Amino acid sequence: MDRLLKFLFHQAPVRGEVVRLSGSWQQMTALHAYPEPVLRLLGETTAAATLLSATIKFDGNLILQIHGDGPVQLLVVECRPDAAYRATAKLRPNARVEAGAGWRELVNAGGQGRCAITLDPGASPAGQSRYQGIVPLQGSSVAEALEAYLRQSEQIESRLWLAADARAATGMLLQRIARPSAAGAEQDEDAWTRTTTLSDTVSAAELLASTAEDVVHRLFWQERLERYAPVTPRFACTCSRSRTGRMLITLGRAEVDSILAEQGTVRVTCDFCHARYSFDAVDVGQLFATGSTEPGRSDPAH
Ligand SMILES: [Zn+2]
Repeated sequence: MDRLLKFLFHQAPVRGEVVRLSGSWQQMTALHAYPEPVLRLLGETTAAATLLSATIKFDGNLILQIHGDGPVQLLVVECRPDAAYRATAKLRPNARVEAGAGWRELVNAGGQGRCAITLDPGASPAGQSRYQGIVPLQGSSVAEALEAYLRQSEQIESRLWLAADARAATGMLLQRIARPSAAGAEQDEDAWTRTTTLSDTVSAAELLASTAEDVVHRLFWQERLERYAPVTPRFACTCSRSRTGRMLITLGRAEVDSILAEQGTVRVTCDFCHARYSFDAVDVGQLFATGSTEPGRSDPAH
């Protein structure tokens, strides 16, 4: 069951979220053949991105990128405001991934890895601008790297617990937030220490084996929670023939013509969903003449 739960601790400056991606995660990763350590890393990053995306008041896409300096060159997760997400991992050519390879070996072997978070307004109405924060990778896990990012770039004290395998990508986020207390009510100042200490008792195996509801219940059954409506994240790709055409236009006519001359057809495969788009000489001529891919000749084929 795919689920994202969001809640506030009653009269406390702490908010929490728990996510479990299961069906959508299996559907997405079935399209790829990632080595197990890469699958786990991508899963933790994907769970983290969906958690962060649900914290922001922004009508656009959140894009989390990890630029690695090891066998993993790039991890990308994109989350849309409607809880759709897509993610992919790109390995370096001829990369060797050792069994059991961890965070450092995969993405920060030489200490040159970086983490970037972009808020992209996409097609949403004007008034919101694109924002990007980039920091060097720190710590020894996705969770520690993002905690450092949030502290430095956003000045938000955050804790993340993440776990992933072939079945599910799961995680939990707690954030210390400024929150005016109700008139006369006493703010629960101890809540941050109490809730993070409780959360430290959850194991990766437990996150992987439990529903999001069970995780919340097991950890916080003694707490008073103010819950938001649950959300169902899903996998969806945003690629299309016309977007691929626009990408070819930015490559430039000379470059595209040289691919045509060499291969007869320009073939583009989506990194996220493996949809294939092909453009022959007639398509390319029309694309550069009109800026449009219509009438399309070969729509997505897997
Ligand atoms: Zn796609």
